[in-house]
Amino acid sequence: MGTNSLSAASEDYLKVIWTAQEWTDAPVTVSALSAHVGNSPSSVSEAVKKLTAQGLLTHARYGSIALTEEGTREAVAMVRRHRLIETFLVEYLDYGWDEVHDEAEHLEHAVSDKLVNALDRRLGYPVRDPHGDPIPTRDGSFPPLAAVRLNGCEPGSVVTIARVADADPELLRYLAGLGLHLDVRVHVLSRQAYAGTLTVAANGKQLELGLPAAQSIWVLPAPATEGLPAPAAEGSRQG
Ligand SMILES: [Zn+2]
Repeated sequence: MGTNSLSAASEDYLKVIWTAQEWTDAPVTVSALSAHVGNSPSSVSEAVKKLTAQGLLTHARYGSIALTEEGTREAVAMVRRHRLIETFLVEYLDYGWDEVHDEAEHLEHAVSDKLVNALDRRLGYPVRDPHGDPIPTRDGSFPPLAAVRLNGCEPGSVVTIARVADADPELLRYLAGLGLHLDVRVHVLSRQAYAGTLTVAANGKQLELGLPAAQSIWVLPAPATEGLPAPAAEGSRQG
């Protein structure tokens, strides 16, 4: 079954399930999905039943929902479309990183595989999107990203921003306003463990980050060498 035979709603469910597994280890359930997509549990349950019958999902009774191999293939193809479209909008059409998610949500259902592969080629086979999310290659593989949430980092850690959650434009504008972009070096000064808030230094300034912001930023240990932050990732593959 190709993507063309799935409705946009089905494609969205597969992508949401895949993305949920990407961000957390918590099992994906009907109620979790319902909270995420904003549809009633009964309509989510109906959709899950349909996708299960199509061989795209497995659903343990009253339990967790998982993608089958076929479902994973469809989901990864949607994720690839979404992230390449976001990258194209930023690189070629001057969109901000806070403006691309909703646009990509619409466009990802409309573009053909041919167009997606042409975008990939024109962009130089980018390995990550404007939010640091890894972009699956044409064959569905992508390098795992070992990033952790900033709010879990111990005081004294020096990290670089590897990824930010992309669904809340207001949060993205807030982070950009603080100069917290991909690859920016962040020094964790202190952590208020029970509030989940952090005091950090970045771009030569001290910042207080609330829990929603600190949770939305994913980081990697900073390279040991002092100096300029790593440049934005360019397509590293030849040809
Ligand atoms: Zn993104």
